[in-house]
Amino acid sequence: MQYIIGVDIGGTNIKLGLFNKKGNLQDKWEITTDISDQGKNIIPDIANTIKSYLTKNKLSIKHCLGIGVGVPGAVSDNLCIGCVNLGWDTLDINKELDKFFPGILIKAENDANCAALGEVYNLGKKYQNACLITIGTGVGGGIIYQDKILAGSNGASGEIGHFKVVFENGRKCGCGKYGCLETVASANGIVEEMKRIVKEGKVKTKFTLDEKFTTKDIFAKKNASDLAVVEVKKIFFHYLGIAVSYLTLVTNPEVVIIGGGVSKGLKNELSEINRYFQKYSFAPSEQTEIILAELLNDAGVFGAAQLIRYA
Ligand code: ZN
Repeated sequence: MQYIIGVDIGGTNIKLGLFNKKGNLQDKWEITTDISDQGKNIIPDIANTIKSYLTKNKLSIKHCLGIGVGVPGAVSDNLCIGCVNLGWDTLDINKELDKFFPGILIKAENDANCAALGEVYNLGKKYQNACLITIGTGVGGGIIYQDKILAGSNGASGEIGHFKVVFENGRKCGCGKYGCLETVASANGIVEEMKRIVKEGKVKTKFTLDEKFTTKDIFAKKNASDLAVVEVKKIFFHYLGIAVSYLTLVTNPEVVIIGGGVSKGLKNELSEINRYFQKYSFAPSEQTEIILAELLNDAGVFGAAQLIRYA
């Protein structure tokens, strides 16, 4: 029996999975991400947990076809080009892991791209061209083109969170620019929009600036008829619709998959997202399906294993 190891490095935890060579998950586990000392322990920690896992299960690295790694930063040719969350500057993932597992196949990619690959894999052979939009604290994305990750010249393709969608008085984004999709359509962006609406006081609402609220509260079923919620959703769908329409114009996918923490609250809103997408899309792209992600937090580790399957 041969296996593949998938690794998804996050700022807080590192998820690992043992997959069979068909890409089916056999087992998974997690370790904490040690970001001290510019993240210099991260790769040794990954190597050590893999080694002890394999030993415990009477396996060795010889039973593995390779190790796929998802990294929360831009990656080009297995080279991580800076990763602020982990404290990494430029890091050659292949070279670093090879010190522990000489000769084994190692492939690294951006984590959002891995998540896109994972979600598409999970849908079977149904789609060859797909885009994933992850809406969480920020907005990320990945593009799958003819079954493969479309990473671009330096790994930065699919960064849908930084599509400029607000052209006047846009809020400052984490990237340093103004009016990015992330400033209005991420979990933080949605809360900021709600605060703005409450502050303006034009609609009657039970939300106040004195009490803290989250996107989960805004999207809660019991608040669906609140006029400020109706307004904030309208703004969210409008900007998301614009961004999805741009994305489909460039990549012409069969499906757009919406994932990330915020997507859990969007089960009953898919028709609205689609309605706004139809409003802005170009006729040949109108048939693009919009669906919600299924693997969510596990998508990255699934996709990382797929890197080895298709290497
Ligand atoms: Zn930005």
